[in-house]
This record gives sequence, C-alpha cells and structure tokens, in this order.
Amino acid sequence: MKGHGPPYNEQVNVDLHCHSTISDGTLTPETLAQRAQANGVELWALTDHDELGGVARAQEAALDLGMHFLTGVEISASYGANTLHIVGLGVDPTHPDLCAGMTSIRTGRERRARLMNESLAQAGITGAFEGALKYAGNPNLISRTHFARHLVKTGVCRDPNEVFRRYLTPGKPGFVPHQWATLADAVTWIRRAGGMAILAHPGRYPLTANQEYALLSEFKTLGGLGIEVITGSHSPAEFIQYAQVARETGLAASCGSDFHAPGESRIDLGDLPAMPDDLPKVWDLLADRIHHPRLAG
Ligand code: AMP
Ligand code: MN
Ligand code: MN
Ligand code: MN
Repeated sequence: MKGHGPPYNEQVNVDLHCHSTISDGTLTPETLAQRAQANGVELWALTDHDELGGVARAQEAALDLGMHFLTGVEISASYGANTLHIVGLGVDPTHPDLCAGMTSIRTGRERRARLMNESLAQAGITGAFEGALKYAGNPNLISRTHFARHLVKTGVCRDPNEVFRRYLTPGKPGFVPHQWATLADAVTWIRRAGGMAILAHPGRYPLTANQEYALLSEFKTLGGLGIEVITGSHSPAEFIQYAQVARETGLAASCGSDFHAPGESRIDLGDLPAMPDDLPKVWDLLADRIHHPRLAG
C-alpha cells in the first residue's frame, strides 16, 4: 500500500469511509472518486452523514475509474448523552425504510443549526448560521463542520480542531444537544436495506471501559457486525487497541480515512496503514455487495 512499504504492498488498498459535498466534505462525489483512484484505492465507499444522495454519483464515477465500490452511509445515533456514528455498507440506497430514516434525521438539523447560532451569538459571535450555510453544499445537511469552517474563515479560530475545542462541543458555546436516531433504528435501517452495520471510530466516544463493553454487547445483539479499527480518527495506539477489541468481540474489522477535505483531514484517501492480517475483514463478508468496474476485473 502506498507509502507504507513491504510487507503491506500486497494488501488491497481499501478505504470505506469518507465525505463529499453531499454532507460535510468539500469535494464532490466525482472529485473524491478521482482522488481515491489517484491515491491507489482499489475498493472504495462514500459514507456521507445521514445522506444517500451522493452514492449513485460516486458509484458511477468509481466504476468508470476502475475501482471496486460499496454503497455507504454514516448514520448519527444518540446513545445516552453521546452521539455515535454507525456506518452502513452495502446498503440499497433506495430502500424506503433507510431513506425515510435519513430524511427524519436530517429534518432536525436546520433547527439545531439555528439554536447553535443563538448560542454562539450569546458568546458574541453573530451571523454564524448564515456563514455556515455558505459552506454547506447541501442545505439539508448543515453540520458542525460547516460552522467550524466559517469560524476559521472569519478568524475566530485558527483551525477546525480549535473550533471543536473551544466551541460546538458539550459545555462550550454553540453546542446544542440533539436527538438523532436510536442505535436500534440505525442498525435496523441498515440491515433492512441489505447492508452491514459497523461501529465507526469507537475510539472517539468518551465511554468508560464498562460503558464501551455494554455498547459493543448491545450493538452485537441488535445485529451490528463490524467495527472500524483503522480510521483517521484513531491514534496508532488505538489501531492496536481496537484490533484487539475486534478479536475479542468477533466483530469484523473495517478501515477508512474519514477524509473530509484536502488540508483538513489527518489521513488522505487511500493512505491508511495496513490492517492486521489475522482480522476478519468487512469486505470479505460483503463480497456479494461489491460493485465491480466495467472493464477491469
Ligand atoms: P454534526 O453531525 O453536525 O454533529 O457534525 C459532526 C462532524 O463534526 C463530524 O463528522 C466531523 O466531521 C466534525 N468534527 C467533530 N469533532 C471534530 C474535531 N475535533 N475536529 C474536526 N472536526 C470534527
Ligand atoms: Mn463529518
Ligand atoms: Mn463520524
Ligand atoms: Mn465520517
């Protein structure tokens, strides 16, 4: 795999998590596909937040470029006071239950954004809703990322990370608690649409070891089958930690850059460290859902 040398060169380059302008990425599905292919990705999925609107475009572009493709989505779910992200791979992007679920989640976003605007205004930052909206390629999917880009552009913070440290997170100005899907709904919609539910970037949730164990048990009971091990959201220590979690839980391992924007994301498309050889891979379980390029094998 590019940039990581032997013995990893023989591994297939898989990137199953990223975002386009249909959610909070800055590149169109087509431009993302080109970047993935240029970076050596062989099996790719687009996983926009709560949106399937980019999947057909991404698939078309990916197959034209000779990549193998899995459909995808990243669903926001509330779990106690925490927000979890559940990636669905191999879903039918037209399935009525999944589409209705995504529409229902998106509906609350504008109201939340207006409340975020009010909260920021109380902290002396005005006009943030209008500012964030300028960055939203899809007005139905206004996200904290768009607020972050606006606050960087207007000089309130130096980079998005600083924004999330000082604003938009629990206890800070601009944070508004929000009710997303339930974990059960997110997993059920994905399963009904023929896909596999994968717990995204588990290292990012502020859970104790016991709480994480309870989450993993509940996720498996609901029918969740995978867990992200290698992701742009994990540190190298977390790659090792969650590889071990995959072994202990029997969840299949997934990997994805979580790429959002050039110069913003820690890991570029296709530039992930290799997955441990011994782990069962989500793409092996999803073999019959993979779309293959027209010309190449
Ligand atoms: P939302 O779905 O509107 O709550 O926005 C969540 C998005 O914010 C995530 O998908 C990330 O893209 C972004 N995000 C969250 N925390 C951070 C962070 N610390 N630095 C940069 N982006 C972040
Ligand atoms: Mn995002
Ligand atoms: Mn996420
Ligand atoms: Mn993501």
